Amino acid sequence: MMKNIALWLVVLVALYGCTSKDSGGNDYSIRLEGRTMGTTFEVVYIDSQERVFDNAIDSLLVEVNNSMSTYIPNSTISTFNASNDTAFFPVDEHFYIVYLRSKALYNLTHGAFNPAVMPLVRYWGFGPEEGPEKVEERVVDSLLALTDFRAFEGTKVMVDGETRYLLKKSDPRLQLDFSAIAKGYGVDVLHDFLQAKGLQNIFVEIGGEIRVSGQAGPELPWVVGIEDPVNSTIDNRKALAYVTLPKGGIATSGNYRNVREIDGVKYTHTIDPSTGYSVRSNTLSASIVAEDCMTADAMATACMVASLDSAVSYLAAANVEGLLMYSDAEGTIDTVQTKGFAHLIRE
Ligand code: AMP
Ligand code: MG
Repeated sequence: MMKNIALWLVVLVALYGCTSKDSGGNDYSIRLEGRTMGTTFEVVYIDSQERVFDNAIDSLLVEVNNSMSTYIPNSTISTFNASNDTAFFPVDEHFYIVYLRSKALYNLTHGAFNPAVMPLVRYWGFGPEEGPEKVEERVVDSLLALTDFRAFEGTKVMVDGETRYLLKKSDPRLQLDFSAIAKGYGVDVLHDFLQAKGLQNIFVEIGGEIRVSGQAGPELPWVVGIEDPVNSTIDNRKALAYVTLPKGGIATSGNYRNVREIDGVKYTHTIDPSTGYSVRSNTLSASIVAEDCMTADAMATACMVASLDSAVSYLAAANVEGLLMYSDAEGTIDTVQTKGFAHLIRE
């Protein structure tokens, strides 16, 4: 399933009329593309040793998927969700890291970002199953009672000198969905792996969620296009803005792809955890810049749920930058952005 791919690496050659060659005329940029998490990924880095890390990158992506993919029946998340046990359950380290960050961002966004929405995500047909033919309020309400993220509890313990990560749920019917943060986390994992190899100029993207370090070439910053939420298509991308990113993560959520029609009504894949219904608002997309991509990813989702005013206050509380696009009373696209985001926009 194609998720929203609202951000992409702008082809710098076209913009600047030059390539990423260094002052000696050498082009050491290495590019790897593939598929993961039901979407595409792209990794670009500059390495004068021209090392290739394809296998290591593939293994890391498999690791993250085996932890958090709700489409893999024996992933950590699927096994935990299916478990009827309310005792502590062993989870892997990726899972635990994402759980902890989720908890912080759940609190910060007053529950707008809520990975416990899984029973509702499945009901609406945005999980592994099809959605209903008709929406039943009674069912939505009963599932809403099973989406309390505070009913999960995590801990870590040392056993024989090794750290074990554990998670439990207070009711066996509770389920988690990290789809709103896992892509961003996967991006961070790849970025940090390449950085640990001593690389300084890195671009990593999974399904539109991006993390960069350094630059694309001598005096060439990484430039990312922010998609027009109304007029752009996957085959014919149209940008409403271009952002220069010195370092950090950028992620976008939008209501314009991954939409489902039930009984003649269109529903987006973002659930409002306060109502149990698919979000209905004027917000078209939210692009967030943060120190890491996991935070940007989760905050982008939260901004699709929250009102514009609340979203702006959550961005300040999280100390991240954002650009929110919405359709105004006349139906034209308007934007609100933080000061820090405005500084990143290329004219
Ligand atoms: P994203 O594309 O990052 O905004 O993530 C959207 C996905 O996150 C959906 O397809 C659901 O699987 C899940 N999701 C939906 N609503 C929420 C929410 N309020 N909080 C956390 N995850 C959600
Ligand atoms: Mg997200």
